[in-house]
Amino acid sequence: MTKFVVTPANVAQRDAWAGGAIPEVERVRPGLWSVPVPIPVNPLRYVLVYVLELPDGVAIIDAGWNTDEAYDALVDGLAVAGYAITDVKGVLVTHIHPDHYGLAGRVREMSGAWIALHPADARLVRERYDDAAIDSLVERERELLRRCGVPELTLDELAGASMMIRHVVTMAKPDRLVEDGDELGLPGWDLRAVWTPGHSPGHLCFVSPARRVLFSGDHVLAKITPIVAVHPQSGPNPLADYLDSLAAVRKLDVEEVLPAHEYRFLELAERVDTVMAHHDERLAEIERVVGSLDGAACWDLATRLTWSRPWETIPPFMRRAANNETLAHLAWLEARGRVRRVAGEQDLWFPA
Ligand SMILES: [Zn+2]
Ligand SMILES: [Zn+2]
Repeated sequence: MTKFVVTPANVAQRDAWAGGAIPEVERVRPGLWSVPVPIPVNPLRYVLVYVLELPDGVAIIDAGWNTDEAYDALVDGLAVAGYAITDVKGVLVTHIHPDHYGLAGRVREMSGAWIALHPADARLVRERYDDAAIDSLVERERELLRRCGVPELTLDELAGASMMIRHVVTMAKPDRLVEDGDELGLPGWDLRAVWTPGHSPGHLCFVSPARRVLFSGDHVLAKITPIVAVHPQSGPNPLADYLDSLAAVRKLDVEEVLPAHEYRFLELAERVDTVMAHHDERLAEIERVVGSLDGAACWDLATRLTWSRPWETIPPFMRRAANNETLAHLAWLEARGRVRRVAGEQDLWFPA
């Protein structure tokens, strides 16, 4: 049975997450619902889609993967809130990762809703999800990995590692581009966009000053830290962008954070401080490892860092993320003059 509990940071959602279950559809505030939409074969298990009631329907924040299971969960969740898929007027997408943006096109097809994205992510859609353009992206990823010193034998496997999930996205061009500070103009909502690049170049959070909630997407989560990595579609120093974006949301006066995964929580500033401290430690560790070697490629450095499990047991897709995340930290250290890159066939990293 679905419970209609309106309390900040409802513990039921946290307990469901901790217990490995999918939480209930919840009424978070009057006129605001949270609908968990399952994502297959992924430890995150579900994305939390937020349903914002409007006088003539609803807007949703994020959509889920493009699978029948996800679509059905979204339709069922909307029904609990008293709405049909045809009532969706708009889809605000925090960023173009498949678990957020994948289902947006299908929702638009069924409802005529508009889709909104930040221009920096809108620009990446075609290359990322169009069959005609994908080869060049894989080629650029391959070149990036090669310069990182990824062994020739594993290059192809790693370069194409995310291709298997492309079928869970329909390529949908956005109808609206949303920039930093834009008011969304949803009737009954004082919703404002906060551009938070880092995890994705066009990542958006949405804040409602009146309701004192922050829809944080993947930018700030209760337990995990989002991947911040150098890849062909990232900027040169995404970690600097990310840390700046953390500082930007830390200033917001909100009571509750409504993230896209795990569970909602209070104390935004404390959580931001913890995430910043995590990156400080990571930067210090990488600087130490660089200092202990006399010129090493990014891949070799990555294999020497502490990960949540032994390097040999990390699957290829995760190894690529680990490598590219290490590269993001190296690029940050390089910009601060704490390490030195010597470019060549392979880029080698030295103490400053
Ligand atoms: Zn993401
Ligand atoms: Zn996500």
